[in-house]
Amino acid sequence: MNEKKLQQEDLIEKQNKTTSLQFNRRNFLYTIAASSVAFYLSGFIKPTSAPLEVRNIIPPRLDTAYLGEKVLCYRPMRRGVPNMTIESVGSQLVAHNYGHGGSGWTLAPGCSKYVVGLVEASPKGKSISKDAAVTVVGGGVLGLFTAYELVQRGYTNITVVADSFDKLTSHNAGGLLAPVSMSNNPQIQPLIDKIGIDAYKFYALVAQGKQQDFQNGALIVPAYFEDRESSGLEPYVGKVMQPAKDVILDFGNGTQRKMVSYDDGIFIDTAKMMVALHDFLASKVKFEKKKINKLSEVSSSLVFNCSGLGASKLNNDAEVVPVQGHLIMLRDQVPADLQSMILVYFSKGKTESGHEAKRSFYIFPKQLPGSAANDIGVIGGTFIEGGTPDTPNLKEFEILVGNARKFYGI
Ligand SMILES: Cc1cc2nc3c(=O)[nH]c(=O)nc-3n(C[C@H](O)[C@H](O)[C@H](O)COP(=O)(O)OP(=O)(O)OC[C@H]3O[C@@H](n4cnc5c(N)ncnc54)[C@H](O)[C@@H]3O)c2cc1C
Repeated sequence: MNEKKLQQEDLIEKQNKTTSLQFNRRNFLYTIAASSVAFYLSGFIKPTSAPLEVRNIIPPRLDTAYLGEKVLCYRPMRRGVPNMTIESVGSQLVAHNYGHGGSGWTLAPGCSKYVVGLVEASPKGKSISKDAAVTVVGGGVLGLFTAYELVQRGYTNITVVADSFDKLTSHNAGGLLAPVSMSNNPQIQPLIDKIGIDAYKFYALVAQGKQQDFQNGALIVPAYFEDRESSGLEPYVGKVMQPAKDVILDFGNGTQRKMVSYDDGIFIDTAKMMVALHDFLASKVKFEKKKINKLSEVSSSLVFNCSGLGASKLNNDAEVVPVQGHLIMLRDQVPADLQSMILVYFSKGKTESGHEAKRSFYIFPKQLPGSAANDIGVIGGTFIEGGTPDTPNLKEFEILVGNARKFYGI
């Protein structure tokens, strides 16, 4: 297989990527990935002499009959940093836990522990008894993991309030554990990495069947990326993960791709994990379906704001923006062929609504609760900052399938 031709195709795909270093980790990673390919081609990075391990991967079935539901959803991204702070508002203590962009699942167990820890370390938090009324606003993964953490710490009077508990971004998310699509100020990155490493430990226990409260919902499977930098996982290596390996993926049709593999990658089966979280909490917290218009209308003295995109109004936060994503559920696949994860980036482009789209191809072994064993797999996806339900950008679904085919050479 002509490996150099593939590298050149990748380079052409990437030449539109930004070259300016900004506070945006995603852009930073794009730049590093593009430069390393250019260096490789120009001979500055010599290929290793040892032959690379070749792994046979059978591509998913991507004909129309094998494509299931098309899903549009919106990452709650807060520019600069997720809000994981506490503040005193009158007699109330408000703890914020929102704005985690495309990494909410990756971070949720760790940042919920972090934010509840901030509360308990504060003078006002110390004065709140474990049987005092506590309200969590938001029924997504951030709200549910915050409630879980409160239960772990002995709080007994918890209410989770949300205007919706169904078909949330948290149910729709892909499920890769990697701190990638966020918009972090570099100064905050060490904290994000620490929180992610905490979360990795939690999900690894779930995957190994050693977490007492959750037996299912996470798997340890190889995670393939174009390079180490674009995985966001290097800070995890040596702490909770093994070093990545350089490998060749062989798709059995004459197409090969040079990738890096983190063999101890973690896939979170997001829709199933949402059910598991609800089941665990059902007997321990109250759930109330209600829209909150102002945090001050909540009567409890301790309030957790886990309202995702809702925080732009609830906390009057102009830094919160939706990042639209397109996903397609796969059906009638061969489950044994879908036991890994892949994430690669394509070039940026303009959508039909005029928004800038960062296009990628990813595939994860996601399954919806109660679905047949062969209805497995999700492909994505786009990152369209500012995209809303009024600008669905439906052509992106076709582009996504086209990019998937291109990646596999089918
Ligand atoms: C296409 C796509 C793929 C993704 N893939 C991954 C991935 O592979 N890995 C990963 O780690 N992350 C991924 N994510 C990101 C992840 O899904 C989000 O970061 C996470 O789900 C956000 O959770 P949340 O609880 O903050 O928000 P949400 O799930 O949106 O929940 C917000 C909750 O707040 C409630 N609410 C809001 N406002 C109010 C109000 N005023 N009153 C009452 N209730 C209110 C809502 O009803 C809802 O219950 C992906 C996201 C998308 C869109």
